[in-house]
Amino acid sequence: ERKAALAASSGPGATSDGHKVPLLANIGGPADVPAAVEAGAEGVGLFRTEFLFLDDDKKAPSQEKQVEAYRKVLEAFPEGRVVVRVLDAGADKPLDFLTPADEPNPALGVRGLRTLLDHPEVLRTQLAALAEAAEGLPVYLEVMAPMVADRTDAKAFADACREAGLRAKFGAMVEIPSAALRARSILQEVEFLSLGTNDLAQYTFAADRQVGAVSRLQDPWQPALLDLIALSAEAAKAEGKSCGVCGEAASDPLLACVLTGLGVTSLSMGAASIPYVRAALAKHTLAQCERAAAAARATDSAEEARLAAQAVLSGE
Ligand code: PEP
Ligand code: MG
Repeated sequence: ERKAALAASSGPGATSDGHKVPLLANIGGPADVPAAVEAGAEGVGLFRTEFLFLDDDKKAPSQEKQVEAYRKVLEAFPEGRVVVRVLDAGADKPLDFLTPADEPNPALGVRGLRTLLDHPEVLRTQLAALAEAAEGLPVYLEVMAPMVADRTDAKAFADACREAGLRAKFGAMVEIPSAALRARSILQEVEFLSLGTNDLAQYTFAADRQVGAVSRLQDPWQPALLDLIALSAEAAKAEGKSCGVCGEAASDPLLACVLTGLGVTSLSMGAASIPYVRAALAKHTLAQCERAAAAARATDSAEEARLAAQAVLSGE
Protein backbone atom coordinates (compact mmCIF):
# COMPACT_ATOMS: atom_id res chain seq x y z
CA GLU A 1 0.00 0.00 0.00
CA ARG A 2 2.87 2.28 0.92
CA LYS A 3 4.56 1.51 -2.40
CA ALA A 4 1.36 2.25 -4.33
CA ALA A 5 0.92 5.54 -2.49
CA LEU A 6 4.45 6.56 -3.37
CA ALA A 7 4.12 5.49 -6.97
CA ALA A 8 0.99 7.64 -7.24
CA SER A 9 2.91 10.49 -5.69
CA SER A 10 4.09 12.96 -8.28
CA GLY A 11 3.48 16.55 -9.23
CA PRO A 12 3.35 19.64 -7.05
CA GLY A 13 2.78 19.37 -3.31
CA ALA A 14 -0.82 20.03 -2.25
CA THR A 15 -3.44 18.98 0.27
CA SER A 16 -6.34 16.83 -0.96
CA ASP A 17 -8.46 19.97 -1.40
CA GLY A 18 -5.83 21.65 -3.54
CA HIS A 19 -4.06 23.97 -1.09
CA LYS A 20 -0.59 24.22 -2.62
CA VAL A 21 2.51 23.60 -0.51
CA PRO A 22 5.58 23.64 -2.75
CA LEU A 23 7.96 20.78 -1.93
CA LEU A 24 11.56 21.89 -2.29
CA ALA A 25 14.91 20.18 -1.83
CA ASN A 26 17.74 20.83 0.62
CA ILE A 27 21.03 20.54 -1.24
CA GLY A 28 24.71 20.98 -0.43
CA GLY A 29 25.84 21.61 -4.00
CA PRO A 30 25.45 20.67 -7.68
CA ALA A 31 26.06 16.97 -6.88
CA ASP A 32 22.72 16.81 -5.03
CA VAL A 33 20.70 18.24 -7.93
CA PRO A 34 19.95 15.00 -9.87
CA ALA A 35 18.31 13.36 -6.83
CA ALA A 36 16.24 16.49 -6.23
CA VAL A 37 15.03 16.57 -9.85
CA GLU A 38 14.31 12.83 -9.74
CA ALA A 39 12.18 13.25 -6.59
CA GLY A 40 10.15 15.93 -8.34
CA ALA A 41 11.36 18.82 -6.19
CA GLU A 42 9.70 22.07 -7.27
CA GLY A 43 12.96 23.87 -6.66
CA VAL A 44 15.56 24.25 -3.96
CA GLY A 45 14.46 25.54 -0.57
CA LEU A 46 17.87 25.45 1.07
CA PHE A 47 21.17 25.49 -0.77
CA ARG A 48 23.75 25.13 2.01
CA THR A 49 26.76 26.90 0.47
CA GLU A 50 29.20 25.85 3.20
CA PHE A 51 30.54 22.94 1.11
CA LEU A 52 32.17 25.40 -1.30
CA PHE A 53 34.26 26.75 1.54
CA LEU A 54 35.62 23.42 2.75
CA ASP A 55 38.41 22.98 0.16
CA ASP A 56 40.64 25.70 1.53
CA ASP A 57 41.08 26.39 5.23
CA LYS A 58 42.83 29.73 4.69
CA LYS A 59 40.56 31.75 2.42
CA ALA A 60 37.16 31.93 0.77
CA PRO A 61 36.69 30.45 -2.72
CA SER A 62 37.12 32.89 -5.61
CA GLN A 63 34.12 34.58 -7.18
CA GLU A 64 34.66 32.54 -10.38
CA LYS A 65 34.62 29.24 -8.52
CA GLN A 66 31.42 30.23 -6.73
CA VAL A 67 29.73 31.42 -9.95
CA GLU A 68 30.40 28.03 -11.53
CA ALA A 69 28.75 26.10 -8.67
CA TYR A 70 25.76 28.47 -8.34
CA ARG A 71 25.13 28.45 -12.08
CA LYS A 72 24.99 24.65 -12.21
CA VAL A 73 22.28 24.64 -9.56
CA LEU A 74 20.31 27.55 -11.04
CA GLU A 75 20.36 26.00 -14.51
CA ALA A 76 18.85 22.77 -13.16
CA PHE A 77 15.63 24.54 -12.13
CA PRO A 78 14.56 26.73 -15.04
CA GLU A 79 11.38 28.56 -14.01
CA GLY A 80 11.72 27.00 -10.56
CA ARG A 81 12.65 28.54 -7.26
CA VAL A 82 16.14 28.36 -5.84
CA VAL A 83 16.74 29.62 -2.30
CA VAL A 84 20.43 30.06 -1.61
CA ARG A 85 21.63 30.51 1.93
CA VAL A 86 24.73 32.63 2.28
CA LEU A 87 27.60 31.09 4.20
CA ASP A 88 26.66 29.73 7.62
CA ALA A 89 30.04 29.33 9.31
CA GLY A 90 30.68 28.78 13.00
CA ALA A 91 29.34 26.58 15.82
CA ASP A 92 28.62 23.17 14.26
CA LYS A 93 30.18 24.38 10.95
CA PRO A 94 33.49 26.06 11.93
CA LEU A 95 35.85 27.50 9.32
CA ASP A 96 39.44 28.09 10.45
CA PHE A 97 39.92 31.46 8.79
CA LEU A 98 36.57 32.91 9.89
CA THR A 99 35.52 31.32 13.17
CA PRO A 100 37.00 32.72 16.40
CA ALA A 101 38.95 29.94 18.15
CA ASP A 102 38.61 31.17 21.70
CA GLU A 103 34.88 31.39 22.27
CA PRO A 104 33.53 29.58 25.35
CA ASN A 105 30.16 28.93 23.65
CA PRO A 106 30.57 28.87 19.84
CA ALA A 107 26.85 28.28 19.27
CA LEU A 108 26.20 31.56 21.08
CA GLY A 109 29.12 33.38 19.52
CA VAL A 110 30.09 34.71 16.12
CA ARG A 111 28.42 32.42 13.59
CA GLY A 112 26.10 32.65 10.60
CA LEU A 113 25.25 36.21 9.56
CA ARG A 114 27.35 37.54 12.46
CA THR A 115 30.47 36.05 10.85
CA LEU A 116 29.60 37.62 7.49
CA LEU A 117 29.00 41.06 9.00
CA ASP A 118 32.44 40.80 10.63
CA HIS A 119 33.94 39.80 7.25
CA PRO A 120 32.01 41.95 4.78
CA GLU A 121 34.39 41.08 1.92
CA VAL A 122 33.34 37.42 2.14
CA LEU A 123 29.64 38.36 1.97
CA ARG A 124 30.29 40.84 -0.88
CA THR A 125 32.07 38.20 -2.97
CA GLN A 126 29.36 35.63 -2.39
CA LEU A 127 26.54 38.03 -3.30
CA ALA A 128 28.44 39.24 -6.37
CA ALA A 129 28.92 35.62 -7.45
CA LEU A 130 25.19 34.95 -7.03
CA ALA A 131 24.29 38.06 -9.05
CA GLU A 132 26.66 36.96 -11.82
CA ALA A 133 25.42 33.36 -11.79
CA ALA A 134 21.76 34.39 -12.10
CA GLU A 135 22.39 36.81 -14.97
CA GLY A 136 20.32 35.96 -18.02
CA LEU A 137 18.62 32.95 -16.40
CA PRO A 138 14.83 32.79 -15.99
CA VAL A 139 15.22 31.29 -12.53
CA TYR A 140 13.51 32.80 -9.54
CA LEU A 141 16.42 33.42 -7.17
CA GLU A 142 15.96 33.96 -3.46
CA VAL A 143 18.85 34.60 -1.10
CA MET A 144 18.61 34.24 2.66
CA ALA A 145 20.78 34.83 5.70
CA PRO A 146 21.26 32.30 8.51
CA MET A 147 20.99 33.27 12.19
CA VAL A 148 19.11 36.55 11.85
CA ALA A 149 18.38 37.77 15.39
CA ASP A 150 16.45 40.98 14.81
CA ARG A 151 15.49 43.77 12.42
CA THR A 152 18.97 45.31 12.59
CA ASP A 153 20.46 42.04 11.28
CA ALA A 154 17.80 41.78 8.58
CA LYS A 155 18.46 45.34 7.42
CA ALA A 156 22.23 44.80 7.33
CA PHE A 157 21.72 41.75 5.12
CA ALA A 158 19.19 43.43 2.82
CA ASP A 159 21.52 46.46 2.45
CA ALA A 160 24.41 44.16 1.48
CA CYS A 161 22.20 42.43 -1.13
CA ARG A 162 21.12 45.78 -2.60
CA GLU A 163 24.71 47.06 -2.67
CA ALA A 164 25.75 43.91 -4.57
CA GLY A 165 23.10 44.72 -7.21
CA LEU A 166 21.41 41.39 -6.61
CA ARG A 167 18.12 41.00 -8.46
CA ALA A 168 16.51 38.50 -6.11
CA LYS A 169 14.22 38.27 -3.14
CA PHE A 170 16.04 38.66 0.18
CA GLY A 171 14.97 36.58 3.16
CA ALA A 172 15.77 35.80 6.76
CA MET A 173 16.06 32.43 8.41
CA VAL A 174 14.18 32.11 11.66
CA GLU A 175 16.55 30.09 13.85
CA ILE A 176 16.61 32.20 17.00
CA PRO A 177 13.51 32.63 19.19
CA SER A 178 13.90 36.44 19.08
CA ALA A 179 13.35 36.30 15.32
CA ALA A 180 10.13 34.31 15.70
CA LEU A 181 8.86 36.61 18.45
CA ARG A 182 9.49 39.72 16.33
CA ALA A 183 8.94 38.23 12.88
CA ARG A 184 6.76 41.14 11.74
CA SER A 185 9.52 43.61 12.48
CA ILE A 186 12.04 41.51 10.54
CA LEU A 187 9.58 41.36 7.64
CA GLN A 188 9.81 45.14 7.33
CA GLU A 189 13.29 44.53 5.87
CA VAL A 190 13.01 41.23 3.97
CA GLU A 191 10.54 39.53 1.66
CA PHE A 192 10.34 36.03 3.10
CA LEU A 193 11.07 33.87 6.13
CA SER A 194 12.47 30.35 6.27
CA LEU A 195 12.34 28.44 9.54
CA GLY A 196 15.55 26.57 10.39
CA THR A 197 13.93 24.28 12.92
CA ASN A 198 17.18 22.49 13.84
CA ASP A 199 18.73 25.63 15.27
CA LEU A 200 15.39 27.05 16.40
CA ALA A 201 14.95 23.95 18.61
CA GLN A 202 18.54 24.24 19.87
CA TYR A 203 18.08 27.87 20.93
CA THR A 204 14.53 27.51 22.23
CA PHE A 205 15.41 24.66 24.58
CA ALA A 206 19.04 25.62 25.34
CA ALA A 207 19.91 22.14 24.07
CA ASP A 208 23.04 21.78 21.95
CA ARG A 209 22.15 20.01 18.69
CA GLN A 210 25.47 18.12 18.86
CA VAL A 211 24.92 16.70 22.34
CA GLY A 212 23.06 13.41 22.27
CA ALA A 213 22.28 13.55 25.99
CA VAL A 214 19.82 16.43 25.41
CA SER A 215 18.28 15.06 22.20
CA ARG A 216 14.84 14.81 23.84
CA LEU A 217 14.74 18.60 23.72
CA GLN A 218 15.71 18.66 20.05
CA ASP A 219 12.44 16.95 19.07
CA PRO A 220 10.69 19.22 16.55
CA TRP A 221 7.29 18.10 17.86
CA GLN A 222 7.84 20.07 21.08
CA PRO A 223 4.75 22.28 21.50
CA ALA A 224 6.93 25.33 22.32
CA LEU A 225 8.60 24.95 18.93
CA LEU A 226 5.20 24.58 17.23
CA ASP A 227 4.15 27.85 18.93
CA LEU A 228 7.17 29.72 17.54
CA ILE A 229 6.53 28.28 14.08
CA ALA A 230 2.90 29.42 14.28
CA LEU A 231 3.98 32.93 15.35
CA SER A 232 6.32 33.20 12.37
CA ALA A 233 3.77 31.88 9.87
CA GLU A 234 1.06 34.21 11.21
CA ALA A 235 3.40 37.20 10.97
CA ALA A 236 4.24 36.34 7.37
CA LYS A 237 0.56 35.97 6.49
CA ALA A 238 -0.23 39.34 8.07
CA GLU A 239 2.51 40.92 5.95
CA GLY A 240 1.44 39.09 2.78
CA LYS A 241 4.77 37.25 2.63
CA SER A 242 5.87 33.62 2.66
CA CYS A 243 7.24 31.49 5.49
CA GLY A 244 8.75 28.10 4.65
CA VAL A 245 10.40 25.41 6.75
CA CYS A 246 13.81 24.06 5.74
CA GLY A 247 14.86 22.22 8.92
CA GLU A 248 14.57 18.48 9.53
CA ALA A 249 10.98 18.98 10.75
CA ALA A 250 9.77 19.30 7.16
CA SER A 251 10.86 15.75 6.30
CA ASP A 252 8.51 14.03 8.77
CA PRO A 253 5.30 13.35 6.77
CA LEU A 254 2.96 13.71 9.76
CA LEU A 255 4.71 16.84 11.00
CA ALA A 256 4.65 18.25 7.45
CA CYS A 257 0.83 18.12 7.65
CA VAL A 258 0.94 19.90 11.02
CA LEU A 259 3.32 22.56 9.67
CA THR A 260 0.92 23.14 6.80
CA GLY A 261 -1.87 23.51 9.34
CA LEU A 262 0.23 26.07 11.22
CA GLY A 263 0.36 28.20 8.06
CA VAL A 264 3.78 27.32 6.69
CA THR A 265 3.83 28.03 2.93
CA SER A 266 6.53 25.66 1.63
CA LEU A 267 8.51 22.65 2.86
CA SER A 268 12.14 21.95 2.03
CA MET A 269 13.85 18.66 2.84
CA GLY A 270 16.34 16.05 1.70
CA ALA A 271 15.22 14.73 -1.70
CA ALA A 272 14.56 11.22 -0.38
CA SER A 273 11.74 12.49 1.87
CA ILE A 274 9.81 14.38 -0.82
CA PRO A 275 7.63 11.46 -2.09
CA TYR A 276 6.58 10.56 1.47
CA VAL A 277 5.67 14.12 2.38
CA ARG A 278 3.83 14.60 -0.91
CA ALA A 279 1.79 11.42 -0.30
CA ALA A 280 0.91 12.45 3.27
CA LEU A 281 -0.25 15.93 2.29
CA ALA A 282 -2.37 14.56 -0.54
CA LYS A 283 -4.39 12.49 1.95
CA HIS A 284 -5.68 15.41 4.04
CA THR A 285 -7.53 18.68 3.56
CA LEU A 286 -6.12 21.98 4.77
CA ALA A 287 -8.85 22.09 7.44
CA GLN A 288 -7.78 18.66 8.73
CA CYS A 289 -4.15 19.83 8.86
CA GLU A 290 -5.28 22.91 10.80
CA ARG A 291 -7.19 20.75 13.29
CA ALA A 292 -4.16 18.47 13.71
CA ALA A 293 -1.95 21.52 14.31
CA ALA A 294 -4.33 22.90 16.95
CA ALA A 295 -4.52 19.49 18.66
CA ALA A 296 -0.72 19.18 18.71
CA ARG A 297 -0.29 22.69 20.16
CA ALA A 298 -2.81 21.93 22.90
CA THR A 299 -0.56 19.24 24.40
CA ASP A 300 2.38 19.45 26.82
CA SER A 301 5.02 17.22 25.23
CA ALA A 302 6.44 16.17 21.90
CA GLU A 303 5.12 12.64 22.34
CA GLU A 304 1.58 13.84 23.12
CA ALA A 305 1.70 16.31 20.25
CA ARG A 306 2.58 13.54 17.80
CA LEU A 307 -0.19 11.27 19.09
CA ALA A 308 -2.75 14.09 19.03
CA ALA A 309 -1.95 14.95 15.42
CA GLN A 310 -2.03 11.29 14.45
CA ALA A 311 -5.44 10.84 16.10
CA VAL A 312 -6.91 13.78 14.18
CA LEU A 313 -5.45 12.77 10.83
CA SER A 314 -6.21 9.06 11.02
CA GLY A 315 -9.69 9.54 12.48
CA GLU A 316 -11.02 11.48 9.50
C1 PEP B 1 18.38 24.61 10.61
O1 PEP B 1 19.05 25.07 11.54
O2 PEP B 1 17.24 24.07 10.77
C2 PEP B 1 18.88 24.65 9.22
C3 PEP B 1 18.10 24.35 8.20
O3 PEP B 1 20.18 24.99 9.04
P1 PEP B 1 21.41 24.01 9.40
O4 PEP B 1 20.84 22.68 9.77
O5 PEP B 1 22.28 24.00 8.19
O6 PEP B 1 22.02 24.75 10.55
MG1 MG C 1 20.70 26.38 11.06
